[in-house]
Amino acid sequence: MVTTVIIGMLCVHLLCFSLMFLLISTRLNGKKMGMEVFAVGNLLLGLAYILQLLGGPAGWGVMSVVNHTLTLCAPVAYVLGAMRFFDRPTAVWRPLLTLAAGYTVLQVLVQLSLGDAARHALLAGACAVLFLGMAAALLYAGRTVAKDVQVEMAMFAVLVGGICALNAGKFVIILSGGMAALDLSTTFQKTFYIYMSFLATVLPPCAVWLVLRRLTDELRAMAAHDPLTRLLNRRGLMERLDAHFRSRTAGPAYLLIVDIDHFKRINDTYGHNVGDLVLGRVAQVLSATARQGDLTCRLGGEEFAVVCVDTDSAGALQLAERMRAAIEHSEVPGDSAEQPIRCTATIGVSAAFSTTHAFDDAMQQADAALYRGKTAGRNCVRCGSDGAAVSV
Ligand code: GH3
Ligand code: MG
Ligand code: MG
Repeated sequence: MVTTVIIGMLCVHLLCFSLMFLLISTRLNGKKMGMEVFAVGNLLLGLAYILQLLGGPAGWGVMSVVNHTLTLCAPVAYVLGAMRFFDRPTAVWRPLLTLAAGYTVLQVLVQLSLGDAARHALLAGACAVLFLGMAAALLYAGRTVAKDVQVEMAMFAVLVGGICALNAGKFVIILSGGMAALDLSTTFQKTFYIYMSFLATVLPPCAVWLVLRRLTDELRAMAAHDPLTRLLNRRGLMERLDAHFRSRTAGPAYLLIVDIDHFKRINDTYGHNVGDLVLGRVAQVLSATARQGDLTCRLGGEEFAVVCVDTDSAGALQLAERMRAAIEHSEVPGDSAEQPIRCTATIGVSAAFSTTHAFDDAMQQADAALYRGKTAGRNCVRCGSDGAAVSV
């Protein structure tokens, strides 16, 4: 009786959270993060337990066969949902239907050749293996594709490990005790369903927590980056600069302002879209030329900023010169392959600065140096502290 009530509650949890996953997925415009597949997983498991309640004591029959197939397909749906959550596009219905058909046939064969206990043991054994694989995959994901949620992945792995152990226990108990082991009044069965109920209550909010984390991380990244070039925007640059200067070992930094020469002409000659391609190419060149730790940013229009750290003024000027030369030698394919589009840039370099508050002064210095570079004929580097030409 107690176990029947627990299974009833389990059904309610599974179906309510299935609906919640579905509603969340409809609000995630396009990128559903696997929520719609988690909804399917919960629905399958919820239906399996409803069939179990309707079917009464464990035994052979259509309801029991469908119940076992749904029970096995549900965790597979969770795995497919998790793959989608981690941006691994995967088919859902075809693998689920194939598994359902294959497992149904296997069940009938096992039932006919080895009997009812063997069919129930098969489900417990298959679930144990599946959950073991899931626990291992969660631990692996935490160390590779999901490093940012490593703790959560480890926690999920422990929880899934628990249901793996319980299924393994069920497998052994059925093999040794036969169908009597499946009596819902046994302590083992009570423990099994209490744990399942616990998982069905705890895991869905954890999944929602992961979605919220992902969404807030994406929003923060969007607010800090320029959508065209994917470089930091000014706000992102200031945040990173703050973080840099908060570190106790941080040395002074140098600001380079990079302004594409005669960019308006490129727009006027080739069109705005090609102008955007040129901006993207220059952004790539700056990122590729910057050293690890340097910050690259699009200030706006055709102006970029590079904050150069862990170096002295000679190093900053050398970097500026490398960037200038790299932009000069880069090209964007034009309408015909023979006529790639080229551009040059003028770079103004500030004196050293050591706090975020000093950034505005550094901007003015680099801007003044840039202006001198423009009036000196463009495609050159000028330094803010003394205005000396570095190279042309
Ligand atoms: P200078 O050598 O003196 O820097 O001349 P310039 O033509 O590069 O500078 P100017 O400030 O006269 O022109 C900048 C142009 O950049 C004008 C504007 O239409 C264009 N621009 C600004 N933002 C974008 C953008 O996002 N995409 C494209 N394609 N053009 C942009
Ligand atoms: Mg310009
Ligand atoms: Mg400009």
